[in-house]
Amino acid sequence: MADNALILNGTMVADRIKEELTSRVEALKAKGIVPCLATILVGDDPSSATYVRMKGNACERLGIESRRIHLGAGTTTEELIAVIEQLNGDEDVHGILLQHPVPHHIDERAAFEAIAIGKDVDGVTMLGFAQNAFGQADYPSCTPAAIMAILDHYDLPIEGKHAVVVGRSPILGKPVSLMLLNRNATVTVCHSKTEGLAELVRQGDIVVAAVGKPAFIQGDWIKEGAVVLDAGYNKGNIGDVDYEACLAKASAVTPVPAGVGPVTIATLLKHTVDAAERRVFQP
Ligand code: NAP
Repeated sequence: MADNALILNGTMVADRIKEELTSRVEALKAKGIVPCLATILVGDDPSSATYVRMKGNACERLGIESRRIHLGAGTTTEELIAVIEQLNGDEDVHGILLQHPVPHHIDERAAFEAIAIGKDVDGVTMLGFAQNAFGQADYPSCTPAAIMAILDHYDLPIEGKHAVVVGRSPILGKPVSLMLLNRNATVTVCHSKTEGLAELVRQGDIVVAAVGKPAFIQGDWIKEGAVVLDAGYNKGNIGDVDYEACLAKASAVTPVPAGVGPVTIATLLKHTVDAAERRVFQP
């Protein structure tokens, strides 16, 4: 039994990323540029409001301007797109984040697609997704990029490993599968119609949980010595993995909280600073 699993400390990885950003933000400010992330929240979903607030506060702690736009639950697709287009044309805004999910009556895909590719710091557009699939994205989706950053920070091997990703959403499961594939992992992508899920997960040297169901991945699904990355974040600070049970089998595992979450936010800040630098140094 691997009873000494390495706890992959996301807070530490996030701090490293943010430390490196401090001097870059200062350098931009010296040139009269304040990096700026615009966040758009539509409606009053409390979890979404919390996520947006966390992202805005993280920006401000680092000297990045946080432009917070809160639209009413009755906002139409056209109104939302008009706001996004205004932000696209605003020279002072470097990144745009539309908090998912938006109310059901809004065409979320159309709204995502309205974000200019140069400001798509959360990698939500189809073009951003395609660039990521080719390994050429300036701004891959933040949570998948965070998962890769954790693997790299701890020097955990990817090439040749069998990665099993549970979840195939366009912002998480699919892009992380492509990123792992681009790093020469052999990737199995599982979803709600997958048959024999437990058996497939048992084959994973790397397991990524991106399901949205608390403690869904069971300890006895984990292969001895596997590396487990839990992107899930459910009510009560519970991940998608049965953490305690997985600890007994895995060689390394991300906790919830303080795992993938803080690195996702640090990645968003990094992408915003990258976008501001591109404007200054490659106008
Ligand atoms: P999502 O859009 O709801 O996608 C969930 C995926 O899980 C879908 O592909 C779904 O399959 C699959 N699934 C559902 N039930 C399943 C089952 N019984 N067996 C196998 N697969 C199943 O969710 P998401 O946006 O990707 O988010 C996933 C989790 O990550 C959530 O807990 C969310 O809170 C968390 N998250 C965390 C961060 C962060 O910063 N840490 C960021 C984003 C999301 P189908 O495609 O067949 O429906």
